[in-house]
Amino acid sequence: MEFESILLPGIDDKRPLVIAGPCSAETEEQVTATARQLADNGVKIYRAGVWKPRTKPGGFEGIGSPALGWMMQAKKETGMYMSTEVATEKHVYESLKYGIDMLWIGARTAANPFAVQEIADTLKGVDIPILIKNPVNPDLELWIGALERLYNAGIKRLGVIHRGFSTPDKTIYRNLPQWHIPIELKRRYPTLPIICDPSHIGGARNLIAKISQQAMDLNFSGLIIESHCSPDEAWSDKAQQVTPDALKEILDNLVIRDTVQ
Ligand code: PEP
Ligand code: MN
Repeated sequence: MEFESILLPGIDDKRPLVIAGPCSAETEEQVTATARQLADNGVKIYRAGVWKPRTKPGGFEGIGSPALGWMMQAKKETGMYMSTEVATEKHVYESLKYGIDMLWIGARTAANPFAVQEIADTLKGVDIPILIKNPVNPDLELWIGALERLYNAGIKRLGVIHRGFSTPDKTIYRNLPQWHIPIELKRRYPTLPIICDPSHIGGARNLIAKISQQAMDLNFSGLIIESHCSPDEAWSDKAQQVTPDALKEILDNLVIRDTVQ
């Protein structure tokens, strides 16, 4: 597989490509306030989950389509590109209808070939960058299989997100990085952009800087980091979200070396 650029107009290829925003879109005020602060701090691509795949029922499962309207309003105001997670045909249709710029497939969905195929079929002939998170389990072939399903549907603007792998063991990480897996993926597909998600790997604010630096030292293309205007009040993943100012500090302190691949 040979991939085409996931970069959107006006975004340069300087590392890291940064995508940031809240785990979930919660209210119009939270979407807007977070977007304004991130844009002021130089972020160009905004993320927010509109449909949330929760491990157990009863949690906040997302606002759904109305949140796409809030995001598009934030785009109009800040000029940032908008990205969200899709897991079904309906999510893809709704996101495209509202004008979302970039989509990602979540870790639980990436582990389900039927769901990935449904998304790929829905996206046939649509020119939009898609990022595929690794499946929750450490299965490189399943991750590649998801990539192939999209690629075979004609989508060439593809990238992957390394968000770590679930483990029954108690570790400092929420999801084990198992860096050798994305490294092997990059060895096989050198033109594939890999973006690290230190928020879901670490599961904790204080781990984000270190994991981000490790990803840069491994020549990853970018970072997707959860950032919320009031992280302690977040409706999902509060322990791992940082304020837009804390995000800026993390990014400003990264050392970007041109390491040998
Ligand atoms: C998310 O990005 O908020 C999310 C649900 O992540 P993951 O699919 O990696 O668990
Ligand atoms: Mn999250």
